[in-house]
Amino acid sequence: MTNLTPKGTTQNFCSSCGAELQASTPQGDHLPRYVCGACDIVHYENPKMVVGCVVEHEGSILLCRRAIEPRYNYWTVPAGFMELGETIVEGATRETREEACAEVDVDGLLAVVDVVHAGQAHIFFRATLKDGVFGVGEESLDTQLFKPDEIPWDEIAFPSGTIALKRYLHFMESGDSAVHYTQAKRMKSL
Ligand code: ZN
Repeated sequence: MTNLTPKGTTQNFCSSCGAELQASTPQGDHLPRYVCGACDIVHYENPKMVVGCVVEHEGSILLCRRAIEPRYNYWTVPAGFMELGETIVEGATRETREEACAEVDVDGLLAVVDVVHAGQAHIFFRATLKDGVFGVGEESLDTQLFKPDEIPWDEIAFPSGTIALKRYLHFMESGDSAVHYTQAKRMKSL
């Protein structure tokens, strides 16, 4: 038994039986976890996957202005948390449909970004609008196509989005489709 607090969100009660949880390191493990004192279930917390698309249409990039916190009113590439039961491509295209009412062809993997301080890994695909049609989804205030020199860099919601957009512009200019891997730094304002 250890009194160290597990990383991640604080959990008080067992989601299986309702009993109180204790922080302890299970036998054979090397990190403290929340363990149920009654049913012995270990409540693991692991990083979450965020998936999205950088969507191009005739040389312009589709961005969504966020209608939700965090980073309300900032621009983002369509992306969000993966759901159970879907592939990363299905998650990325679903988010694009939800946020921009757009159907896309996924052309390849673009970038993988570790966001360790947020307990997340972000995966972005290269995609193109299927029919040129897009709209404003429930989680967006607005959606627009931006030419590369019009992208509002100071108003991009998250560093990983900036990384993905820059990588896509690199691909547009050079044709280099190698997958980019990097780590995002913590933002001062979050
Ligand atoms: Zn329990």
